[in-house]
Amino acid sequence: MYSVDELSTPVPQIINTDHWFSRKEYREPFFVAALLAVTVLHTLSLLSRPESTYLLTTLQAVIYEAFVFNFYYTNLQLSLSAAQKALLDAIPHDVCTVIKQLDLDLEYTLFACCSMCFAQYLPNLDSPHDLYLHHCMHKPDPGGSVCDNALVRRIEGSTPVSWKLIKTFPLQNLHSWIAGLCSCPGIEEHLVASWKKSAPGSRYHDIMKALII
Ligand SMILES: [Zn+2]
Repeated sequence: MYSVDELSTPVPQIINTDHWFSRKEYREPFFVAALLAVTVLHTLSLLSRPESTYLLTTLQAVIYEAFVFNFYYTNLQLSLSAAQKALLDAIPHDVCTVIKQLDLDLEYTLFACCSMCFAQYLPNLDSPHDLYLHHCMHKPDPGGSVCDNALVRRIEGSTPVSWKLIKTFPLQNLHSWIAGLCSCPGIEEHLVASWKKSAPGSRYHDIMKALII
């Protein structure tokens, strides 16, 4: 557990870092690579959850076929081992479960981002079915007109009516990021060592080690 003092308030903020230190279940590298591929497509390329589910199901079928491939050529009876069955069953169908299993579910705030002027808007948590402004209110030029670019588009057939952001800007919670950084193995030793000053006359490799700070 690490406490991080808020700059604006003297009350320390406690961030639970237990999950960073819990022993992780071993997973085969190809299995982790497959889950990472889906995670990257979902988080960086904005692959939707239903499309991610389709990809996960396809990966499950591909891995199954890879397991049974040899049986076709060796005329052995087709049956998976218990370990192979367990691995196939362990492939989630929801990308959110994948992200949680990989311990990549970060704390962040998802801003709406205007695709024209890049102004950003916080979600309105008092309106869970309609979290974001529908149009940009920013004035790119002082005294000019409002941008008015669409921030969301309606999801067809949704009941109640729901909206999808056209462009997003996720911002990670700074405190949880610091807590994760401080949980890395050896980071405390590196932080302490960074304050050790070089001997006078020696070569400096970091501006923080200069004599005048
Ligand atoms: Zn705008």
